[in-house]
Amino acid sequence: MKVLEKAPAKINLSLDALYKREDGFHEVKMVMTTIDLADRIELTERTDGQIEIISHNRFVPDDNRNLAYQAAQLLQKKYGVTKGVSIEISKIIPVAAGLAGGSSDAAATLRGLNKLWNLGLTLDELAVLGAEIGSDVSFCVYGGTALATGRGEIIQPIPAPPHCWVVLAKPTTGVSTAEIYNNLDLKKVNHPNVDGMVEAIKNQNYEEVTKLVGNVLESVTLKLYPEVAQIKEQMKRFGADAVLMSGSGPTVFGLVQHDSRLHRMYNGLRGFCDQVFAVRLIGEQNKLD
Ligand code: ATP
Repeated sequence: MKVLEKAPAKINLSLDALYKREDGFHEVKMVMTTIDLADRIELTERTDGQIEIISHNRFVPDDNRNLAYQAAQLLQKKYGVTKGVSIEISKIIPVAAGLAGGSSDAAATLRGLNKLWNLGLTLDELAVLGAEIGSDVSFCVYGGTALATGRGEIIQPIPAPPHCWVVLAKPTTGVSTAEIYNNLDLKKVNHPNVDGMVEAIKNQNYEEVTKLVGNVLESVTLKLYPEVAQIKEQMKRFGADAVLMSGSGPTVFGLVQHDSRLHRMYNGLRGFCDQVFAVRLIGEQNKLD
């Protein structure tokens, strides 16, 4: 038996870090939304109990370092599952990019194995399990748009943002999330208005959304990786309504509503960056069918 799952990437429209907790994580408050750029996860049942990763990508580990592997192992252990699975990952989302690619692969594996292994779990139960794998996995289990708090695993769904295009540009460098948080000095940063962003989305006010995009990690990454600042400048020059780095970077995204400017941004940026995508925001949450 086989199950196919889409694993969409996310962007952060607003990302704030409030303080460093005793467990070493930062307490965060962020607005996350899924975009129409997705890996494809194909799960094939194995009778020998083994978990196998087929990754086709040299930057994606094919052993227990892969978050999709960890998702399968967690379900096996928690629910005493004796069946195994081959997990084939067709990678479209850039790796180590601030787009939660690995987290979304893990979330898609949780949703898919719930069907393949007939576990009968709810999305809420899968999201709780996801938090054991990584802070972004819970959001990725649901998808859609949400306010995320705690270390990112406490999810309150909100409506989808107003319709717009997202142009993504990733420089060749990959960024480690831990490195960026380690260099974050909360006394020296501008905190974005996360509540304002939630209101703007609820009111479907696109102009306010574009004014309020903000990411507390941006200044840290821009200092360490100046090429990210250059991409931001290019995006603005090509006519984006708003420009921001996603997560800990280095991917920069630009929001735009007019098709003509979308084409200008996409074509212009392709001259600067090897990985450029033009996609839509997705408002819909994932469902278990
Ligand atoms: P986030 O936005 O959640 O911080 P990210 O998009 O910055 O995540 P990922 O693409 O998830 O980062 O990759 C970070 C690292 O995780 C990679 O360098 C890779 O070694 C490891 N990894 C583990 N599983 C996966 C996976 N399924 N896909 C991609 N990378 C994975």
